[in-house]
Amino acid sequence: MGETIFSKIIRKEIQADVVCETDNILAFKDINPQAPIHILIIPKIEIPRISDLNLPTHGEILSEIFATANKLAKDFKIDKEGYRLVFNCGSNGGQEVEHLHLHLLGGRKMKWPPG
Ligand code: 5GP
Repeated sequence: MGETIFSKIIRKEIQADVVCETDNILAFKDINPQAPIHILIIPKIEIPRISDLNLPTHGEILSEIFATANKLAKDFKIDKEGYRLVFNCGSNGGQEVEHLHLHLLGGRKMKWPPG
């Protein structure tokens, strides 16, 4: 399991606009935002993909990721109008960085189906 750019962000070797941090997770603004609010929420431990989750072992971390998404949606005032949470998985899912991350997208009307 190789390191990714997110490992360097966790270790603060690469700068990121961090909006929330705990012992277990880090949340920072996406460098190439696809919506007015676009935040990535990642576990600090290296889990490559959503399909690599080991439940219930990773249950607490997953719970913290979702709780952080909902908290940040309130903080960034997109909770009332709504937002989208996305895990891309693998190449067909559009995953580019092999370190589990939840996209929090908001501030505009989302389309369905996604491209
Ligand atoms: P994926 O396509 O893997 O689901 O999403 C990876 C996301 O990470 C993309 O939205 C991309 O813009 C973002 N990203 C890639 N490298 C960096 C970086 O160095 N800093 C930040 N803040 N975001 C990054």
